[in-house]
Amino acid sequence: MTIDEKVRKTLAELGVTDARGVEALFAEVRATMEHEREELVSHGAANEAERNLACKRLRDRWLARKSGLISMIDERWLKCAAKEVKPAVGKAFNELRRVAGDMEVEGLISRVPIRLELHATDTFEMKESVSALVKSAAWLDLTLPGNRRPLGSIHPVTRVLREIEDIFINLGFRIETGPEIETVYYNFDALNIPETHPSRDDWDTIYVDNANQGLGVAGEKSEVRSQKSEEERPLTPDTGNLKPSLLLRTHTSPVQIRAMQKYGAPLYIIAPGKVYRHDNPDSSHATMFHQIEGLAVDRDITFADLKGTLDFFAKRFFGGKVRTSFHPSFFPFTEPSGEVAISCVICDGQGCRVCKESGWVEVMGCGMVHPEVLRNGGIDPSKFAGWAFGLGVERYAMMKYGINDIQLFYQSDLRFLEQF
Ligand SMILES: [Zn+2]
Repeated sequence: MTIDEKVRKTLAELGVTDARGVEALFAEVRATMEHEREELVSHGAANEAERNLACKRLRDRWLARKSGLISMIDERWLKCAAKEVKPAVGKAFNELRRVAGDMEVEGLISRVPIRLELHATDTFEMKESVSALVKSAAWLDLTLPGNRRPLGSIHPVTRVLREIEDIFINLGFRIETGPEIETVYYNFDALNIPETHPSRDDWDTIYVDNANQGLGVAGEKSEVRSQKSEEERPLTPDTGNLKPSLLLRTHTSPVQIRAMQKYGAPLYIIAPGKVYRHDNPDSSHATMFHQIEGLAVDRDITFADLKGTLDFFAKRFFGGKVRTSFHPSFFPFTEPSGEVAISCVICDGQGCRVCKESGWVEVMGCGMVHPEVLRNGGIDPSKFAGWAFGLGVERYAMMKYGINDIQLFYQSDLRFLEQF
C-alpha cells in the first residue's frame, strides 16, 4: 500500500493501535516525503519554467490546503484517532508538519539545479541518456572551481603600436598599410634615395631574388615598369649584374608614396608595420622590427605644424612633463630634415645612464617632404606641402617599460611576456 492509499484510511483501518505503530507509520511518511524531495533535487530541471512547475507540484502534493497529503493525514489520522493513540499522533503530526516546511516552493527552487539545455533537435534517446547521466552524477555542483585556461596578454610591441596609433587616430590620421615585400622603386627611388646611397647595399638591405624564383609578382612588375626610373635602375656598380627589383622593405616610408598615389592630397596617414634590415642581432638591433611612419600633406602646412603635432604626441605618450627638442639632420626624402629628442623620462633631463648623461633621448626622425617625393606621389609641390616622421616601435616599448634588450621581444619567453 502506498502512502497515497494509506492516507485515505483511518489508523484503525490500517491496524495502528499503539504509539509504536504511530511512530512507524509517520516515519514511513517522512521517508517518502524526503525521498520525493531528494529525487527532484538530484534530477534537476531543464530550465527555469520546468523547475518552478516541478517545485510547485511537489509542494501542492504535500501542502495543498484541501487535497494535500498533510491535510489528509490531519483529517483521517489525527482527527479520527482513538483516545489512546491521540497524543502520539498529535506529536508525530506536528513534527511531520515542521519537516514538511522544506516543501515550500522558495526553499526548493534554491536547491534544484538547472541542467544544461538540450537542443530541440536532440533525439528522445539522447535526452534520456543525458538525464540518466545527470542523475548518476547526483547533480551539478556549480560552486566547484572549473578548469581555468590561462589568458594571454597583448605583446608589448603590439600594445605600444596600438597606443601610438590611437593618439594619431584621435588627431585625424588614418592607418595605411603596404606590402612587406616591396619594389626597389618604392623603397628607394621614389623616396629620392640616390643610386649610390649606402643603405641600398646588400649588407644593409635584404633583396628577394625574384628573377630566378619567379615569385608571383607579375602585377607588381607591370606597376614597376610604368615608373620611369625602373629602366635606369638595377645595375650594381661593382658587379654589373642585374639586381633583383624586390626587397624586404627597410622602412615604412614606401607607404607614403603608395598612399599619395592612391588618395592624392590632402592626406593624413600613419603607416605602422614590420621592416627588415641586414643587421646582426644584438641588444639594440634586430633583422625585423616595427616602424610607424606619419605623413601629412595639405595646403599651407609648415614645419610649425610638424613640431606642434610631434610635441603633442610626445606629451601624450611619455607624459605631460616631457619636453621636445628638434635638431637639424639629413634624410634624402625630407628637406629640411630633423631629429626629435625628448627630455629623458628616467632622470627628467638631469642626466643618467639611459640618456648618456645628456638629459635628452632621440626618439624619431622627421622633416618636410621633399618636393621630388611629392611629385613621385603624383602631388604638385607648388600647391601642396607635406611633413613626415618615422619612429621605431620597439625603441618606444623599451623606453616605456625600461627594457634594455630588443631581442627579448622576439624570444617568446613567457617569463618576459607575462609581465605585460
Ligand atoms: Zn636620463
